[in-house]
Amino acid sequence: MFSASSAQRRKGRFSRTALSLFCLGSLATFGFGGCQSVAPPSTAVTQAGANSFPAQAGGTIGATPASAVQAPAHEAFDGDRAYELLKKQCAFGVRPLGTDAHEKAKDFLLAEMKKYADSTIVQSFAYHGLPVTNIIGVFNPAGSDKPSAHPILLMAHWDTRPIADGPHSDKAGLPYRYGPSGWRPTAPIMGANDAASGAAILLELARIFKDKKPDVGVLLLLDDGEDYGDFHGDSERGDGVELGSRYFAKHYREQSAFGSPFYGILLDMVGAKDATFPREQLSQARAASVNDKVYGIAQSLGYGNIFISGEMQDVNDDHVAINDEGIPMIDIIHPLPGGANDRRAYRYWHTQQDTADKCSPKMLKIVGDVMAEVLYREPR
Ligand SMILES: [Zn+2]
Repeated sequence: MFSASSAQRRKGRFSRTALSLFCLGSLATFGFGGCQSVAPPSTAVTQAGANSFPAQAGGTIGATPASAVQAPAHEAFDGDRAYELLKKQCAFGVRPLGTDAHEKAKDFLLAEMKKYADSTIVQSFAYHGLPVTNIIGVFNPAGSDKPSAHPILLMAHWDTRPIADGPHSDKAGLPYRYGPSGWRPTAPIMGANDAASGAAILLELARIFKDKKPDVGVLLLLDDGEDYGDFHGDSERGDGVELGSRYFAKHYREQSAFGSPFYGILLDMVGAKDATFPREQLSQARAASVNDKVYGIAQSLGYGNIFISGEMQDVNDDHVAINDEGIPMIDIIHPLPGGANDRRAYRYWHTQQDTADKCSPKMLKIVGDVMAEVLYREPR
């Protein structure tokens, strides 16, 4: 993923139209004028500064009063198991496209998904000679032996970045270019948080969904090639990013088991010990009701101080391609360094210090519990 402020200039994904839609959405949903920098109308949200808007209509931001916290409906998500799954991925080594570790990680993730899903579907394609693989677990609704026509889509990428080019990387000055054999992984990152954390949560959710099915159908998509190339590059030329999500977006209709997803949630960098997740701007423009649902449930579980409903961030990520094909999808992501959310940023983003010790079972469980609760509360 990449800060959309620069991607916007280069790729033009976040157009003025989209931003205007966001403003209109805010007006419609929250009933106050302006966009981003306008002071919110309620003293209940004074904790949030610029880039802010009310948490929930009439709600507050931050810690939920203990008396109001609800227990999850099915508290089976095991943060320790999820952390083991994160470490297992890292044990294969760095996992950019075209490496042996990438292949081994794929085999492991596929075998794990097959243990739990009603069916597991693989999308394979080549990107300039390199194999790219999406792994999709299909979970039928409770009591049904058929996939849902309108499942909920949860998604996380499983590849890792071949170059440590984050702003806090000590390798940031290394030259790197796309070549005939792909990116030369001169300084590949371990990617414990980016994004073994999200893949680990999806696999632990798979385990509990096998044990107790949500009433709705679910797709768990482990997508590949998100972090492959140049976020300022030209995907057609061969140095692109978000490969697996763009492939899924273009081809999901060819597979009847995928149905027509009702909405989607992307998890990216969701395991760091100190993570917080402000709302993401394109998600808010395209899928405000999904954001409201997820942030509302997080607050009801007592995690309003982690799912920061009253602040915004702006990230170009795998949810863009999915939204572009008409599936409303939000991105839950730890802010990137260097932008407006720098004080909340994951400093190890795209550095070789993105290792398992930066993550915690506790944070994986918090995000996993919220995701499970969203699915278990969803009516048939
Ligand atoms: Zn990344």
